[in-house]
Amino acid sequence: MAPPGETSAVVEVPCFLDDPIQRMPNEDLAERVITELVALTLVNRAEVVEWKHHFLANAYPVCSTDYSSEIRIITEALAQISNLSTIGRAGLFFYSHLHDQLRLAKDYVAAHLQSRNEGDTEPALESWCTEPLTDQS
Ligand SMILES: Cc1cc2nc3c(=O)[nH]c(=O)nc-3n(C[C@H](O)[C@H](O)[C@H](O)COP(=O)(O)OP(=O)(O)OC[C@H]3O[C@@H](n4cnc5c(N)ncnc54)[C@H](O)[C@@H]3O)c2cc1C
Repeated sequence: MAPPGETSAVVEVPCFLDDPIQRMPNEDLAERVITELVALTLVNRAEVVEWKHHFLANAYPVCSTDYSSEIRIITEALAQISNLSTIGRAGLFFYSHLHDQLRLAKDYVAAHLQSRNEGDTEPALESWCTEPLTDQS
């Protein structure tokens, strides 16, 4: 981690492969990011000790246009397993953020406890998840 008296900041610059910003030399990109952070009064340029650039390809999931029909095959097959629930971003194929996951997890636990009290094994997806799970853009 950062040495005493220093701290670190991570700046995410999303882009597609071969976007102009992705082809930019690392020094130019760092300069652009620092300039923007200074403009936002988040950092003082004189206090920037160093920067490092890490390129991560395919960091974000990119869904194909027909993904919802393929997902239906998977979810219907998994629904045959009575004591299995899939949750989370990948488990629900739901393009979501951390706060969504926290809320969905709480909703799932509440529904699971209710199902257990009623003698069922796992809550049906529709009973706890009100998000549109497919056909999202
Ligand atoms: C590049 C990027 C930037 C993001 N930025 C933000 C942001 O700024 N704000 C925000 O709110 N959200 C952001 N998100 C979204 C957020 O990260 C996700 O919504 C959230 O992490 C999903 O939580 P999850 O628990 O469903 O899945 P994950 O966090 O993906 O957790 C799934 C876990 O399961 C593990 N796993 C997978 N397969 C197996 C296996 N077979 N056996 C054992 N373990 C397995 C994985 O290693 C992983 O640790 C970002 C996502 C990405 C990819």
